[in-house]
Amino acid sequence: MTYHIQQFKQGEIIFHGGDSSDCAYIIEAGQVEIYSANKGTIFDILHEGELFGEMGVLDQSPRSTSARAVTPVTLLEVKTQQITNRLSESDPIVKALVGVLLKRLRSMLPSQGLGTEKNSLLDQVASVIEQAGLSKFKLESELRSAINAGDIQTVFQPINDIPNNELAGFEALSRWTHPHRGFISPVEFIALAEETDLISEVGDLVFTRAIDLLSRLPEHVFININVSSKQLDDEQFLNRVLKKIKANNISPSRLKLEITETMVVDFNLAKKWLKKCQKIGFPVCADDFGTGHSGMEQLVELNFDVLKVDQVFIRNMFKNERYQTILNSIATMAKDLETKLVAEGIENDQEYQTLKKLGFDYGQGYFFGKPMSVEDVLKLTN
Ligand code: C2E
Ligand code: CA
Ligand code: CA
Repeated sequence: MTYHIQQFKQGEIIFHGGDSSDCAYIIEAGQVEIYSANKGTIFDILHEGELFGEMGVLDQSPRSTSARAVTPVTLLEVKTQQITNRLSESDPIVKALVGVLLKRLRSMLPSQGLGTEKNSLLDQVASVIEQAGLSKFKLESELRSAINAGDIQTVFQPINDIPNNELAGFEALSRWTHPHRGFISPVEFIALAEETDLISEVGDLVFTRAIDLLSRLPEHVFININVSSKQLDDEQFLNRVLKKIKANNISPSRLKLEITETMVVDFNLAKKWLKKCQKIGFPVCADDFGTGHSGMEQLVELNFDVLKVDQVFIRNMFKNERYQTILNSIATMAKDLETKLVAEGIENDQEYQTLKKLGFDYGQGYFFGKPMSVEDVLKLTN
């Protein structure tokens, strides 16, 4: 977004009462007089750093006053679009507060003139804020309550050993059934949790339950857990997990941490994460492999223990043979790099047989089993 600077000479008019308006100004240098040309009244003299013409940002009705440069003046123009863009990126609480303030301001405005037309900019600004901010803010506070009330569930989806088609482990997945909205996809609430500190709380919940389950499962069974960058950046997070596995006498090799390719923006940072996890003994898995943008360089730079090939390759392997060609190359590459290979989203025997021929190590998908409760996991394994 570019910002426009405007210069005015001493005595020059910046705007007249009655002019149409769509921007406000911040004074970078000089002094500005706000006055009424009709009445000959001076309302205010403004200085560096002050904002004026702000109603123009909120509503496109004509300027109610005039403005003139008292000295040579430099102004920074602020357009409505800049404000709405900034707001849509800002914290939900800030958005909610601005939304409430705007509503109050609107109710104080006279019944004619400013802010009364339908679809005025003020309405648009308020609705952007309301949609993006308030609903998200509400959902965030509901998620917080749900975590505290124990309403975030953890389910476990089987991961099978491909050569023998035997159960090898599970992936832990979070579930939230909202009292009014019903099932909310983890894609939505995990993203929301990641924007706040709630991801640490959800993460701790998942780890606690997974470790508890591991202590009740046979030694050879592992559990994969999705971790986000916030958790890996948190110095205390891995220590908390380590304490839990020690207390339960679990080997760290049974807990595999899944990192999505989209999380890897900075190789140096990702290398640090891998080192930290692998030093403790947690195998690290590249999740949704093949869908990110880091490509081959990621494989060179990062020493993943497992590659989990994204479902899109499995879903399309009989629709477009180029997907199978890529799967074949990934399989060869993984073997050469001595990296284990998992396929996800396997839904039928035909897909399973093909992946078996390609030499995949593990598979996950409805063909082997859907995500299930702890009780069902225990029934399956005992
Ligand atoms: P993901 O890690 O790629 O998880 C696999 C997703 O594929 C799961 O969706 C799973 O239910 C679904 N799936 C498994 N097998 C099949 C199949 O055969 N066919 C089809 N069509 N889908 C299958 P889910 O549970 O909706 O999770 C979505 C995403 O949310 C996960 O994608 C993961 O990235 C994230 N997620 C879920 N729980 C957590 C969590 O506790 N922490 C974090 N950080 N992320 C989580
Ligand atoms: Ca995953
Ligand atoms: Ca995945």
